[in-house]
Amino acid sequence: MEKSVLKFLPDFGVLVCTACTKPHCLPPGSVDGHMCRYHGKTFSINKRGAMVEYANSLASDLKSTEEVMETVPPRENGPVEGLYVNHKGYECLMCEYVCGSLTTMKRKHCPRAHQWNKEKPDIWRVQPVQVHSLTRASLTRADFLRRTTIHEIFPR
Ligand SMILES: [Zn+2]
Ligand SMILES: [Zn+2]
Repeated sequence: MEKSVLKFLPDFGVLVCTACTKPHCLPPGSVDGHMCRYHGKTFSINKRGAMVEYANSLASDLKSTEEVMETVPPRENGPVEGLYVNHKGYECLMCEYVCGSLTTMKRKHCPRAHQWNKEKPDIWRVQPVQVHSLTRASLTRADFLRRTTIHEIFPR
């Protein structure tokens, strides 16, 4: 049960919460807080405790947030299995920046990074991306995948 809720991805040294509707990674040490805050009604204290134990048993195999942020999954490998894929993300054609929202691309990234304005043709396209955060959909590093882009896979 606990193992089926928390999925360990050995290639990346991360745990994914599969109970979330948009499965994302949990940084080491955050399992208890996450389960309590987001799935407190679903899982009893005992079950949550067992999940924490399971996570602790993997502690030596889990990477730190910093290490994961530096991880660059090869773009040609496609999406990381188990992580949520946002099919309505956007990719900048000038620098491969990607984000989860058109507003961020149009109002923030393109004007700031490329002096783009509304008079100019679009310099982005729709791009499936994998989000990493419950609260923050925009993603910043874009040197990974072309067709399906993986970014920092931990929530901030
Ligand atoms: Zn969750
Ligand atoms: Zn750009």
